[in-house]
Amino acid sequence: MRRRGAGLTARRHAASALHGGSRIRSVLSDTEIQRVLVFAAHPDDVDFGTAGTIAGWTDAGISVVYCIVTDGDAGGHDDSVPRAEIAPLRRKEQTAAAACVGVTDLRFLGYPDGRVEATLGLRRDLARVIRQVRPDRVVCPSPERNYARLGVSHPDHRAVGSAALDAIYPDARNPYAFPELRAEEGLEPWTVREVWVSGGLAPNHYADVTDTFGRKIAALRAHGSQTGHMDTLEEFLRDRLTQLAAQGGLPDGRLAEAFQVLDVG
Ligand SMILES: [Zn+2]
Repeated sequence: MRRRGAGLTARRHAASALHGGSRIRSVLSDTEIQRVLVFAAHPDDVDFGTAGTIAGWTDAGISVVYCIVTDGDAGGHDDSVPRAEIAPLRRKEQTAAAACVGVTDLRFLGYPDGRVEATLGLRRDLARVIRQVRPDRVVCPSPERNYARLGVSHPDHRAVGSAALDAIYPDARNPYAFPELRAEEGLEPWTVREVWVSGGLAPNHYADVTDTFGRKIAALRAHGSQTGHMDTLEEFLRDRLTQLAAQGGLPDGRLAEAFQVLDVG
């Protein structure tokens, strides 16, 4: 059941408004969005960056699909866990985390963790998923290096962000790009209308996630192999999301996730 006006990501901003020195951009109303596709490099990326926003979307009846490029098989902290067990464990953790925010459709591409490059092959693989899912809105990592927060711009994140933006424009919409997708798989071109870049250098939209913060934390805790040792995870994120809310001009006491929204329709 679709519940409109849940007041989370439906928050609209005037395109010309300025808050905290950042230019704030208007976004498509969630009432115009039926499907969202989220690209991420590793299990847990989506939960650190965007799970609060996604919970608001699924509450509003929007269908959300995750496409996770690697299995995070270079992750973990415990030498006693055989490495071969990491990939299936992390898929299981990501699936449980997704369920915390209302997402049940996950596509794992199985690229090797730590070795992702923005190749033509990756572009084709991401364009394939775009044509399969036919999303109105796509979320992806930033392709830019963030010198202030290096962890955000892990090389796999940058490669997935770069390939995702190329897959959105021009590959998925151009019938003559990767013609085998149409000829052999029957996948017709698809035009994504809006892109939300996570972890970028110039956020211009701040989604209020105050009401879904608890589910974001639950999703992060589902990644036990990654967050089990993080005793102050909730406090850390509450501080960080409070700072982002202030940056976005939201009232005191609110929490926000930040995005650079691109109009690509
Ligand atoms: Zn990551």
